[in-house]
Amino acid sequence: MSSKRTIKEIRDEANSSIENKRNNPMHNKSKKNKYRKLIITGLILSSLSIMGIFIVNNAIKRDSSNTLNNQEQDIVEESQGTGSNNLGAGEPTLSQEFIHEQIVEQNLQKEEKKKVMELIEKADLLAMGYYYDEAIKLIKDYEGGYQNHEELQEAMDGYEAVKATLDPFGAYESADQISHIFFHSLIADNSLAFDGDSDSNGYNYYMTTIYEFKQMMQQMYDAGYVLVSIHDVGKKITTDEGTSKFIPGDIMLPPDKKPFVLSQDDVNYYDYMDYDGFASRMVVDENGRPSTEMRMEDGTVLVGDYDMVPVLETFIEEHPDFSYQGARGILALTGYEGALGYRTDDKNSQTYEQDKETVRHVAKVLKEWGWEFASHSYGHRNMLEMSTNFIIMDTNRWMDEVGSLIGPTDIFIYPYGIEIEKTLGTYSNDKYKYLKSLGFEYYCGVYKDPWIHIKDEYVRMTRRPLDGQALLQFPERLSDLFDVLKVIDPDRPALR
Ligand SMILES: [Zn+2]
Repeated sequence: MSSKRTIKEIRDEANSSIENKRNNPMHNKSKKNKYRKLIITGLILSSLSIMGIFIVNNAIKRDSSNTLNNQEQDIVEESQGTGSNNLGAGEPTLSQEFIHEQIVEQNLQKEEKKKVMELIEKADLLAMGYYYDEAIKLIKDYEGGYQNHEELQEAMDGYEAVKATLDPFGAYESADQISHIFFHSLIADNSLAFDGDSDSNGYNYYMTTIYEFKQMMQQMYDAGYVLVSIHDVGKKITTDEGTSKFIPGDIMLPPDKKPFVLSQDDVNYYDYMDYDGFASRMVVDENGRPSTEMRMEDGTVLVGDYDMVPVLETFIEEHPDFSYQGARGILALTGYEGALGYRTDDKNSQTYEQDKETVRHVAKVLKEWGWEFASHSYGHRNMLEMSTNFIIMDTNRWMDEVGSLIGPTDIFIYPYGIEIEKTLGTYSNDKYKYLKSLGFEYYCGVYKDPWIHIKDEYVRMTRRPLDGQALLQFPERLSDLFDVLKVIDPDRPALR
C-alpha cells in the first residue's frame, strides 16, 4: 500500500477533495493504535460487503430454486414480523427480487458506514495536527450529509469543543517564552563516538546521542511541548501602506501546550566524523521518506534512523500531535564540505553532477515533509570578527554552491552562535544589510534561555544547546524542559 504521508499532504488532499466535491478516499493509514482499530473495522466491513455481493450472485444463480439462504430468511422473517422459521418450502410470501433489493440496500449501508469511518479517521489526523478548521470542514462537506450520521456529528462537536479552548501560543503569554532548541549530528553508535580517540572529547561536549534525543522528545511530548515553525513564531505581513513587517505569529494551541522550535547545525556529515558512529549522509528511503545512511568501516552501508531527521519522523508518526500544522526542524548547512553528506564543493569529484542532483532531490523531499533550511555560512567562521568583505564573499559562495541546490531560504544560523553585531537593540551594520539584501530575515544566535526580538525588518531568536556540555555542566538550565538525570546516556563519559 502507500507509505506514510505528511499531515500537510493530508490537509492539501482534504482541501482539494472538498473543492472538487468528489470523494477521494485516503489510502494512508496512520500507525496509531486508535486507527488500527478503524482499519480493522473497515476490513471487516469490506469483507462483509464482499460476502453480500457473493450472496446476491449466488441467489441470482439459484433463481429457480426455492431454498432461501439465512440472510434472505432473516429479511422474510423481519418483514413478516413473525420471527418464526417455519416457512413452507415452495410457498415464499415475498418475491426473491424484493429480498435481493433488501440485501443490496444493507450492503449500501455498510459501504456508507465504512466511508463515514474513513472520513473520521482522516479528520482525526487533521485535528491531531492542529488543523481544526480543516477537520471541521471535511466533516461538514460530507456529501452524504453529516447530520445523517451520529458519528460525524460527534466528531465535529469534538473538534469544535477543542477549537473553542485554543489560545495564541498555548500555555505561553507571548513569543519570547518560546524555546528554540538545537543539536548537532546525533551519535548513532556510542561505542564508536566515545572510543577514546582524539575526537571523543569534542563529541562528548557538543553532540547528543540518539538515546538522549529520544528521551528528550518523549519527556517534552509528555510535558505538552509542540514543535512549531520559526515562520509561525514571527511572521511577515503586508501593512495597509503596502510595506511588509514582522509581527508575532498566531500559533493557536490548547492552553496546556507549549510551542518550541528545533534546529540542527552542520548537517554536512564532515569527513572528520567518518566511522565515528554518525550517519554519513541524508537519503530518501525506499518508501519516499527522509532517512540517513551510515557507512561502516568494513564497507557495509545501513539505511535507517541514524540522525535527527528520521528519528524525529518516527516519533511524529507515533505522536502526530507533537507537530503543529506539519512543522519540522531547521537544518543548517555550511558549504565547505558540500551539503547533507555529499561533497558538492568538489568540482573534480567523479560524482559531482550526480551528487548535486541527489542533494536537490533530498532537499526537495525534506521540504515536502516540513523541514526547513538555513545558511550556517560557507566557511564556519566567527562572523563578528571577520570583515564585511569576507562575509559578503563567504555568503555569496554559500548561495552559489548550497543555496542553488536547496532553494531559497530566509534563515541564517550563526557559526558558533556568534552574531554579526553585539547590539541588544536593532541590527544596523553593513553585514546585516548585506544578509538582509539576500533575503535573510530570521537570525539565530545562542543563549541559555528563550530570547526573541521581532523587529519590523527581521526576527532574531536565540537557541538553547542541548548537547553534552549542557547536560553535564549546566543541567539546572534545562530543568524546565525535562528531567536531565533521566536523559543522560549511561554511555556518556565524564567531560575532560
Ligand atoms: Zn556549526
